[in-house]
Amino acid sequence: MSVREVVIIGSGPAGLTAALYAARANLQPLVIEGLESGGQLMMTTLVENFPGYRDGIMGPELMGEMRAQAERFGAEIIQSQVSAVDLSAKPFLLKTPDGEYRSKTIIIATGASAKLLGIPSERTLMGHGVSTCATCDGYFFRGQEIAVVGGGDSAMEEAIFLTKFASKVTLVHRRDTLRASKIMQDKARANPKISWMLNNVVHEVKDDGKGEVTGIVLQNVATSALTKLPVSGVFIAIGHTPNTSIFKGQLEMNENGYLVTRGGTRTSVAGVFACGDVQDEVYRQAVTAAGSGCMAALDAERYLEH
Ligand code: NAP
Repeated sequence: MSVREVVIIGSGPAGLTAALYAARANLQPLVIEGLESGGQLMMTTLVENFPGYRDGIMGPELMGEMRAQAERFGAEIIQSQVSAVDLSAKPFLLKTPDGEYRSKTIIIATGASAKLLGIPSERTLMGHGVSTCATCDGYFFRGQEIAVVGGGDSAMEEAIFLTKFASKVTLVHRRDTLRASKIMQDKARANPKISWMLNNVVHEVKDDGKGEVTGIVLQNVATSALTKLPVSGVFIAIGHTPNTSIFKGQLEMNENGYLVTRGGTRTSVAGVFACGDVQDEVYRQAVTAAGSGCMAALDAERYLEH
């Protein structure tokens, strides 16, 4: 088995930017793209906050461009998924259903997946009124009524942020007590544009045949009564899961399972670097992910030089 200079796991903005930089450094990177090829932007429509596109660009188109740009410089991208890694010996070992790879360095860009409610209509209307990112999509809902689902700090933060655009934000939470910190709860409660539907779960997202969200059907958890709430947007803010399960016991993680990086993108194992949402619980933006992907490739290049 030949030994690679660098293998990149994941093909979102972090992974593909790492691939671009590593390819331009003549490291012939191999990108193992993972189950969600292209990452979270493949599930969005118009991206208006990625610098360089003054009129915005569709999420899948942006990822197609990043991919083509990395390939133009020689990055090899394969459709497979890493099922296990062995970071205890060098070169590192990566296992996929299609074969095994050995590499001197690994760049982990496996991202984090937004948790979803698990109802079919949220998937079909994702990007058509259903969103998991207020920063990305809030602007599209100027003057409209929308809902935010969740009871944690993310839901409070997103609801407060969305009041800048929406005329009304209804916060839907499955219990009568919120999980969010007191300070965030107080801020949300003090906001006159936020109203509350506690003890309710989303039963269905409606589009009335229009292909865009027209409302949500809520179910009261105590009485099972159904209520229709007319909204044009639903923001699901029930947390994220970093895609780190294959690294458990091998790399240092924080209490929420995110990879810990130090001095740039270095993980707890020398030669293994992490970038993008898998190590970023705070910013979670395409542009910050891309920036950290560039850093990871530069860090890997310097590591290989020494
Ligand atoms: P979280 O604290 O885990 O809260 C998730 C919320 O979603 C909970 O209220 C939970 O309900 C609800 N939920 C989970 N699964 C659900 C489902 N299937 N259906 C309906 N509701 C569901 O996640 P988070 O708010 O994303 O925060 C993650 C971490 O980041 C936390 O430590 C938080 O403090 C931190 N954070 C901090 C800030 C800030 O300080 N500015 C901002 C954002 C996040 P239950 O309460 O019933 O379990």
